[in-house]
Amino acid sequence: MSAPLGAHISTVGGVPLAPPRAVEIGATAMQIFTKQPNRWAEREIDAAEAEAWRTALAATDVRFVNAHDSYLINLASPEPTLRARSIESFRAELRRCHALGLDALVSHPGNFIDDRDAGIARNADAITEALEAERGPTRLLMELTAGQGTVIGSTFEEMAMLIARIPRALQARVGVCLDTAHICGAGYDLATDYDGVWARFADTIGLDRLGLIHLNDSAAPLGSHKDRHALIGEGAVGDAAFARLMQDPALAAIPKVLETPKGDDMVTNDRAMLAKLRGFADAPRAKRRASPRPRGRPR
Ligand SMILES: [Zn+2]
Ligand SMILES: [Zn+2]
Repeated sequence: MSAPLGAHISTVGGVPLAPPRAVEIGATAMQIFTKQPNRWAEREIDAAEAEAWRTALAATDVRFVNAHDSYLINLASPEPTLRARSIESFRAELRRCHALGLDALVSHPGNFIDDRDAGIARNADAITEALEAERGPTRLLMELTAGQGTVIGSTFEEMAMLIARIPRALQARVGVCLDTAHICGAGYDLATDYDGVWARFADTIGLDRLGLIHLNDSAAPLGSHKDRHALIGEGAVGDAAFARLMQDPALAAIPKVLETPKGDDMVTNDRAMLAKLRGFADAPRAKRRASPRPRGRPR
């Protein structure tokens, strides 16, 4: 059985409405928000909502679900009030994931603002505090970033440092989410150095930590430190890299989720992207070797 493959799915109208939307695009994996990601307001999942969620999910072929946390959370902040508020919000994210029985929570490392090493320490200590307080089935996946501003986690080495600062007993509950657009922005070139990038990932972070891949092409150029998602094949990552990724035996069991632009409705683009990716996965390997990426292509 191939690895779960899907997309970010809207929870407008309530979390239990997401699973049927995943069915509409033929997804076997899905990412959701469990609250409005651009607001501080928190909420808890009550027993009725959890039950409705489980019933709706059981009626689908979805085998992997992760939440993505709020964009306002900054666990690395040097400002005590914002950091405390971020820890509270992050703990609420974990509680909602546990209540829904989700496989993973994807979280962005924070912005260090003043000092990088101090920021990494604050970020790791906040994760530790939250994981100690909120126990449950959901694995935390820290997402590699494009490196905009003072954000932490745009190099594999820095992500490894962040995780290493979390106590060993808790590290089993922590993994990594690799976003192909973010690492392109960070300067990792899957288009021309696919094997080299993954070798570096394996050496610094370790493939056993990889819990999810966000499949996005990058509208921003390689090394731009910008995070702009594009449709698959329409950015600096390119079709050939995604074809290799979909055929890579080392990544065969890793869930993969699209966060590409939705366009005018919630289904057309996602259906087309998933069909394209399945085509890559099914294509004989000889075919991709016979059609290498054009040389000297501007990027
Ligand atoms: Zn993200
Ligand atoms: Zn992402």
